[in-house]
Amino acid sequence: MNENSTSLYDVAIIGAGIAGMTAALYLLRNHQKVLLLENAGYGGQILEAPIVENYPGFAKVSGPELSEQIYQQLKSLGLSLTYDKIKHLEKTTTHFTLTGDQTYTAKSVILATGTTPRRLNLINESELIGHGISYCATCDGAFYQNQTVAVVGGGNSALLAASYLSHIAQKVFLIHRRNQFTAEKALVSQIKNSANIEILYNQEILACHANEDNHLDSLILKNQQVLPVSSLFVEIGRLSSLTEIFQNSNLRSLLLFDQSGFIITDDSCATNLAGLFAAGDCRSKNFRQLVTASSDGAIAANSAIEFLSQI
Ligand SMILES: Cc1cc2nc3c(=O)[nH]c(=O)nc-3n(C[C@H](O)[C@H](O)[C@H](O)COP(=O)(O)OP(=O)(O)OC[C@H]3O[C@@H](n4cnc5c(N)ncnc54)[C@H](O)[C@@H]3O)c2cc1C
Repeated sequence: MNENSTSLYDVAIIGAGIAGMTAALYLLRNHQKVLLLENAGYGGQILEAPIVENYPGFAKVSGPELSEQIYQQLKSLGLSLTYDKIKHLEKTTTHFTLTGDQTYTAKSVILATGTTPRRLNLINESELIGHGISYCATCDGAFYQNQTVAVVGGGNSALLAASYLSHIAQKVFLIHRRNQFTAEKALVSQIKNSANIEILYNQEILACHANEDNHLDSLILKNQQVLPVSSLFVEIGRLSSLTEIFQNSNLRSLLLFDQSGFIITDDSCATNLAGLFAAGDCRSKNFRQLVTASSDGAIAANSAIEFLSQI
């Protein structure tokens, strides 16, 4: 048993993405006893982004570089990251118990577990992320100026992505496995009237082909059509990363989740359970970006500080 698992922390943060790291920054500067838990690599999703161009203060920075800078800032404040995947969370009358490989206790908890994009589950999908395959048109669309790109999906986010990309790319293929979209009607009409969007109904992607530089160069569709594209934006939904933590937890029935499994909070990032906060992409919200994750992290930290001052 290590020191982390025997201490009672003021705040335990689950997830060292941008939201979790920002929360840690604010808490450490407030001299709180912080436990930052991470399952994979600090930085979270943004580690998958070769270039970020919309984080204030950085004209161009890679996701890993940005993550490293924030992490170094935390280290300079004395933080040591704990690698563990939290699988279970409970609350007693006095504290929270977090269980991963070790068990941890804390007076309050910030959930900052992010989201996982739903994937197509194609054979080389993972290795082409950042090399043509993207799950975020707002983030990566600008890299495909005047090129031919594809979007797969049929809901609002897919159509919004297609619309966004139609102003950047020369041509956008919108691939949908059904013959009707589930997106809002106004958006559907807008897409149908767009000169450079070609809709491919009743189609599915069977495979992605990469060139010798290991960059996506074409898609093979169900009807064996080969579609030459520089990029594929997968917009078939996002999965909440909170499912496992609450699967067998007594807290599950007390907390509020939206239809997609994202946790509902108020404007102060507080859930409906005292002492439990949520920040970043794991929250139920409309706009999932670095700056909104960062903002949530600061707000959740501030709310946790207020909570701690009252117990
Ligand atoms: C390829 C790509 C490019 C992007 N580009 C941009 C961009 O240019 N600009 C922009 O603003 N946004 C961009 N985004 C979106 C942005 O990355 C996210 O909105 C933001 O990073 C969310 O941060 P987060 O901290 O809420 O979640 P995440 O980044 O998802 O971090 C959550 C962390 O929690 C950890 N975790 C999850 N469950 C557990 C658990 N049970 N126990 C312990 N740890 C756990 C995960 O390993 C992860 O590190 C991009 C996203 C992707 C995928």
